[in-house]
Amino acid sequence: MDVFEHAANLIANSNKLVVFTGAGISTESGISDFRSPGGLWEKYDPSEFMFDRFLSSEDTRKKYWEMNQHLWPTIVAAQPNAAHIAIAGLDKMGNLDCVITQNIDGLHQRAGVPDEKVIELHGTTLWVLCLNCAKRYPRQEIHNRVEAGDKAPYCDDCGGILKPATISFGQAMPARETQEAENKSAACDVFFVIGSSLVVYPAAQMPAIAKRSGAKLIILNLMPTPHDDYADLIIREKAGDTMEQILKHLQEG
Ligand code: NAD
Repeated sequence: MDVFEHAANLIANSNKLVVFTGAGISTESGISDFRSPGGLWEKYDPSEFMFDRFLSSEDTRKKYWEMNQHLWPTIVAAQPNAAHIAIAGLDKMGNLDCVITQNIDGLHQRAGVPDEKVIELHGTTLWVLCLNCAKRYPRQEIHNRVEAGDKAPYCDDCGGILKPATISFGQAMPARETQEAENKSAACDVFFVIGSSLVVYPAAQMPAIAKRSGAKLIILNLMPTPHDDYADLIIREKAGDTMEQILKHLQEG
């Protein structure tokens, strides 16, 4: 039995499958991750974008928006890849409880996983939020404003600071999503990590919560993670091909 069949067997015997994804699932859609060679942290210094600095310095906000202006066209152009599509396929087969994602790119929903089954732990880059009055703006609208020279935009209604609706380092996690992710992790019987270095907390505590509650843990990631030691199955392959093969095994029964 190869690793694909092994994973398919674990999923076939599961009643509550939770898929947990990180930036690595979207690299095959053309969106860089943070920690792979050539990833975003080789181009930008994360300490520059801590939330308190974003709040306190307009210069930091200008730099932050400048970086985001480069990333946004990539997100707009990205299409769900074979891994996103296979996860939507698992849902259609009735195998999926939910997706917990650290990603902010909206590709799970675009692949066909229903919105209510996707828990976005780190928010979404498809919207911009006023940090004062919580007014939401479509990202493209604010992108156009920044392109037109408004380098650190403020809210039209209240003058508050605008920020993409994502969670920065040092920013509080969304309470409802974090609680829901913990509950789903504790209640599942298979927890399937795809494309995450599992070093960003509190997201990275979810596999441990699942394992402690008796779930089988599958980790599909190109590089080793700090949680590999207690995984039931490790797959060191690319997410797209792997997920296609696993889905094929399941469909062939
Ligand atoms: P990470 O960059 O820390 O780790 C990504 C992991 O994916 C790496 O260990 C790498 O080996 C693996 N990987 C890369 N390509 C792969 C592939 N094709 N198949 C299998 N594995 C692959 O990412 P993370 O763990 O998600 O944590 C970083 C933070 O970055 C998250 O909070 C997330 O919000 C944010 N982020 C999101 C996006 C996105 O939305 N697409 C992109 C960049 C960063």
